[in-house]
Amino acid sequence: MSDKSILVTGGGSGIGRAASLVFAREGGRVLVADLYLERASETAELIREAGGVALAVRTDVSREDDVRAMVDLAVAELGQLDCAFNNAGIGTAATESTNTRIVDMRQEAWDRTLAVNLTSVWHCMRAEIPHMVERGGAIVNTASIAARGALAGSAAYVASKHGVAGLTKSAAIEYAEDGVRVNAVAPGHIETPLLEQALARRGGELSPRNPVRRFGRAEEIAETVVWLCSDRSSFTTGELVTIDGGRLARA
Ligand code: NAD
Repeated sequence: MSDKSILVTGGGSGIGRAASLVFAREGGRVLVADLYLERASETAELIREAGGVALAVRTDVSREDDVRAMVDLAVAELGQLDCAFNNAGIGTAATESTNTRIVDMRQEAWDRTLAVNLTSVWHCMRAEIPHMVERGGAIVNTASIAARGALAGSAAYVASKHGVAGLTKSAAIEYAEDGVRVNAVAPGHIETPLLEQALARRGGELSPRNPVRRFGRAEEIAETVVWLCSDRSSFTTGELVTIDGGRLARA
């Protein structure tokens, strides 16, 4: 990652923070973006304490103007944009307090989930790709195992993550000739504040239903994200990489 500039959304917590730290450890310069500036600043501070280069910005990825300003800042402050990790997202617990099926879902919950998890990725890629065309670049979007199959009571989340997978593949084939690779990660259950919210919503009834028999760690997603951004994955594009402790491997 040395000499590379990287933008990470949702970088103030969980998977985004872990990826920001690994990017920086590998020599990358990181713009950490999050809805909450104090969270993003904390991540940037951790990077600087370890001798890395990072800055923080408050961004609501569901707002196109915020996203454009974030990308402009990355290019202005870091000199260029080589990689982007479009990762910010919300779980079902952020919009629905109970296990709500499609007929009973509120329009507001649907709209918010799609805006933060899916339309945001569209906004991000539209702002990022023009800076990568010709000089090359790599984008990684965060989907979920909910892009591979459905989870009951989470239709908006499932639809948003299937959308991220489709958008990733569309961007990959449209910009391959321009030297821009676009991939997505599909994490299983990973120990982050988002998972804690899901656990609270289900009264603690969420067990690691995978052969490894534990929840994943954010760092275990971050390593794959950094590999997908690096030149070591130069022939990999349009791929959805599942990282779930073998959960979906089960018949
Ligand atoms: P997290 O809650 O720890 O981190 C998400 C970060 O995104 C937070 O810092 C939050 O402030 C930020 N964010 C939320 N809305 C935002 C907005 N509108 N604009 C900018 N930032 C915003 O969660 P996490 O588990 O690290 O989740 C990261 C991504 O991974 C999400 O897209 C999530 O759907 C996905 N994911 C998580 C799991 C899991 O089990 N934790 C599984 C599959 C997919």
